[in-house]
Amino acid sequence: MADSTGTVFDIVVLGGGSGGYATALRGAQLGLNVALIESGKLGGTCLHSGCIPTKALLHAAELADNARDGHHFGVSSELHGIDMAGVNAYKDSVVGGLYKGLQGLVKSRSVTLIEGRGRLVAADTVEVNGQLVQGRNVVLATGSYARSLPGLEIGGRIITSDQALELDHVPGSVVVLGGGVIGVEFASVWKSFGANVTIVEALPHLVPNEDESLSKALERAFRKRGIAFQVDVRFAGATQDDNGVHVSLESGETIDADLLLVAVGRGPSTNGLGYEEQGVTLDRGFVITNERLHTGVANIYAVGDIVPGLQLAHRGFQQGIFVAEEIAGLAPATINESGIPRVTYCDPEIASVGLTEVKAREVHGTDAIDMVEYNLGGNGKSKILGTTGFIKLVRVKNGPVVGVHMIGARVGELIGEGQLIVNWEAHPEDVAALVHAHPTQNEALGEAHLALAGKPLHAHS
Ligand SMILES: Cc1cc2nc3c(=O)[nH]c(=O)nc-3n(C[C@H](O)[C@H](O)[C@H](O)COP(=O)(O)OP(=O)(O)OC[C@H]3O[C@@H](n4cnc5c(N)ncnc54)[C@H](O)[C@@H]3O)c2cc1C
Repeated sequence: MADSTGTVFDIVVLGGGSGGYATALRGAQLGLNVALIESGKLGGTCLHSGCIPTKALLHAAELADNARDGHHFGVSSELHGIDMAGVNAYKDSVVGGLYKGLQGLVKSRSVTLIEGRGRLVAADTVEVNGQLVQGRNVVLATGSYARSLPGLEIGGRIITSDQALELDHVPGSVVVLGGGVIGVEFASVWKSFGANVTIVEALPHLVPNEDESLSKALERAFRKRGIAFQVDVRFAGATQDDNGVHVSLESGETIDADLLLVAVGRGPSTNGLGYEEQGVTLDRGFVITNERLHTGVANIYAVGDIVPGLQLAHRGFQQGIFVAEEIAGLAPATINESGIPRVTYCDPEIASVGLTEVKAREVHGTDAIDMVEYNLGGNGKSKILGTTGFIKLVRVKNGPVVGVHMIGARVGELIGEGQLIVNWEAHPEDVAALVHAHPTQNEALGEAHLALAGKPLHAHS
């Protein structure tokens, strides 16, 4: 069955977020005829309610801190306040500009954009607005939504990141439920904007998926910034009234605040979309695929947050490119999940790629691992910026670097080199021979590799 124009597309993509639009753009670039179905806004979570708006808020937060701290650098400045209308206008202008650019890009590649909510009604057909859109291949890319906990209803003073991005004021106090990436980023923004923030995390550490040394360093830095947090403590319930929200913990403690941000992870948006009816396997809502992102059903693939693994925009982009190339018959190399860089953009930033020390010992054997921590205190540019932190490298003895873990201001910008090192399986000796510009924070990566290669320069051995 073809659509009303009789077209059978080479690829029908359901969902126009990072994963879906990357599939569409790469598919079109390869000469395939692509339909892209989107019920909301092209660009999805990342562009409209994820990566981009949060990073705009974090940049405004950094400026607020700079204004507050100018005197440390001999600059007479003070923070008079946060004009949330102005902050939101700036954030929206960034999002708006990128949205316009993306719309133009999709149009220029001659992708057929269909607006509306799609549903898989046959292995090769999506129904949208009563229209049947048929494809030789179908790519599921419907993304994710902010999850809550059983019995915890979102509304009023209890919000998710979606509402947090639209706030027209700085709250006086916030409880952040969940000390993962999204939780610590909002905690960081609100603290810089002047709010009292308390993070509640059920696991023993903040950012629990990172190398424990980074978690502990972030906890120290947050303590110093006056961001309160409780770890290893479970949420029991929350009520709200005109005065605020009252969050009770299983420890018996109650924390009162103006708002409760629920940041307990994101669930896959796959419910009621016809996936299971067509034989696609779901596990707790996530679409199960093989390593080539094929669902095992007809020519149906899946990309992005609905596929179990890291929920990151750049993973979605790469998966989209992969699937388009797979469909085009280019037989691309599979994506190594542990080679995907991860950045948490709070202050201080965290950036990592590859295996944590614990994981590396598990995979390669306890005695087969060497590691080094290079303190940013010995790095000129970090000193100039007034940041502390470190770079931790994990290598296989006499073998490649398998993990790069960093904490400190702006270290997110260093992960590009880190991911090349890990993914190209560089040995510390290879990196030690490469010249890093002085004074840059990048130099700290070079110094860390010098140290791991047994010839530290600006480090105490
Ligand atoms: C607050 C926050 C901050 C984040 N920060 C970062 C970051 O800094 N870096 C990073 O890499 N990642 C970040 N992420 C994660 C990132 O946004 C996601 O990993 C990424 O958006 C996933 O892309 P996707 O294509 O799988 O899904 P989505 O971006 O969610 O896109 C799915 C699209 O499908 C559409 N859709 C759903 N169902 C249907 C249907 N039935 N019919 C038609 N269309 C449909 C939706 O409208 C949506 O546009 C952040 C997320 C959040 C929430």
